[in-house]
Amino acid sequence: MIHEILAVGPLQCNCSIIGDETTREAMVIDPGDDIDDILALLRKHNLQVKQIVITHAHIDHVGGAQKLRAATGAPIVLNQNDYDLLKMLDMQAAWVGMSSPGKVEIDHSVADAETLQTGSLTANVLHTPGHTEGSICLYFPTEQKLIAGDTLFAGSIGRTDLPGGSFQKIINSLHERVLALPDETVVVPGHGPLTTIGNERENNPFLTKH
Ligand SMILES: [Zn+2]
Repeated sequence: MIHEILAVGPLQCNCSIIGDETTREAMVIDPGDDIDDILALLRKHNLQVKQIVITHAHIDHVGGAQKLRAATGAPIVLNQNDYDLLKMLDMQAAWVGMSSPGKVEIDHSVADAETLQTGSLTANVLHTPGHTEGSICLYFPTEQKLIAGDTLFAGSIGRTDLPGGSFQKIINSLHERVLALPDETVVVPGHGPLTTIGNERENNPFLTKH
């Protein structure tokens, strides 16, 4: 599996480019900004984008999706519980002092227990509400890798004080879904350094208390 992680935009969202080495098909997860850099990496690896996956509808994760869709023709997928949040992109832009990316068109909703296929690569969709109502994580069972969005960070968890956030829900999502994964699972959070499920199970103050 080809996996490039680049921190995009002023809030340094971790965007993942995941590609099949044989078929050269790819998915791009959370292209929040810096689409020219993402396109350059896709060209470098000779990859063709088949889908654009958004872990949740915060501007730093979804802001560049429409531009990437226009450049590649790939559909954008997002859980429908975040569609309301997507309608608030102008407001979100004002909160973080960014210019609004305009309208982002979602091609289809992605739900819990669905699988997303890119070439021979398979990702299981985990619906993990809490940071937002429609937050998802993507788990690649063969590679034991989790793209966690803003649900889990190294040593921390996503904030729950924004519209649609719920502390009880994120704690439930983490215990019931995320910590159900094997300790060896490598976690790529929405921001900051990589970690593992085992490390977070052991050391994350939000998870060891409960
Ligand atoms: Zn977020």
